[in-house]
Amino acid sequence: MPLMNTKAMFDKAYDGGYAIGAFNVNNMEIVQGITEAAGELKAPVILQVSKGARAYANSKYLIHMVKAAVENFPELPIALHLDHGDSFELCKNCIDDGFTSVMIDASSKPYEENVELTKKVVEYAHKYDVTVEAELGTLAGIEDEVQVEHGKEAYTRPEEVEDFVKKTGCDSLAIAIGTSHGAYKFTPAQCTRDPKTGVLVPPPLRFDVLEECIKRLPGFPIVLHGSSSVPQEFVKMVNDYGGKMPDAVGIPEEQLRKAAKLAVCKINIDSDIRLALTGTIRKYFHDHPEHFDPRQYLKPARQAVKEIVAHKIKNVLGADGHADETIKVYNEKYKK
Ligand SMILES: [Zn+2]
Repeated sequence: MPLMNTKAMFDKAYDGGYAIGAFNVNNMEIVQGITEAAGELKAPVILQVSKGARAYANSKYLIHMVKAAVENFPELPIALHLDHGDSFELCKNCIDDGFTSVMIDASSKPYEENVELTKKVVEYAHKYDVTVEAELGTLAGIEDEVQVEHGKEAYTRPEEVEDFVKKTGCDSLAIAIGTSHGAYKFTPAQCTRDPKTGVLVPPPLRFDVLEECIKRLPGFPIVLHGSSSVPQEFVKMVNDYGGKMPDAVGIPEEQLRKAAKLAVCKINIDSDIRLALTGTIRKYFHDHPEHFDPRQYLKPARQAVKEIVAHKIKNVLGADGHADETIKVYNEKYKK
């Protein structure tokens, strides 16, 4: 199975009431942990590369690692996606390099500029059968080079979505309904505090905005960014073994499950993988101060990535067991 674009994945996810996990990849252990989980669970998966990941690892390494994963799991539908492309040139580079899906994020620009740039990327991408994700609305938080201060975020305006999709021809749309980038998704002032645990309780997602977008775009795949849940057991692990992450908090998993059952076909998860990896390595260093072979601590870290991804696929996204039907639709409808 070669890399595929997201069309067959989203067709099945939309009808089946589940979402495809889009996990950010930065190094070999992360690629391996994610694809081992997806492979075992027969779950279609999107591996996504941000501008920051390209700068860190060099795009070529990441592309070849993803291709190695494709060889290793020949029965698994995998898409290679650019996360938060911020220019036509970056999207074009990735398309030319063999990415099967790109995001053009011009959401911080005025509406008409967003339309214009997205349309330009769509026209180029579709020539090469590459799918395009666009964004309307702005998320708060920090993700690599995307930074929006708390208070400057803006919910998607449902009255714009139909016009935007019609004018741009994009294949999926990321919307802002209260998710947020990074491990500090909300300020304490935005939250209440659980009196028992002291953990912040974030404001609920705006399902009314989502429902309104779905009504205006029936059948159209919606994407949620910034959808890590920041599991408190990993925050605790980080903090217990020398780290300092006070008040790190994420999106409750049951809200993401609810979104996945609706028109949300792609859910982006990055911070949870980082947390699992870092917590595990911190604990390993504490427990084995004499070890210095990177393989010793990266092996359990990779296992932690695999476990958290498996948990997401099964219990949050509901994408397990959907690989074969995705390949069938791809072969029948979209294979070129
Ligand atoms: Zn994002």
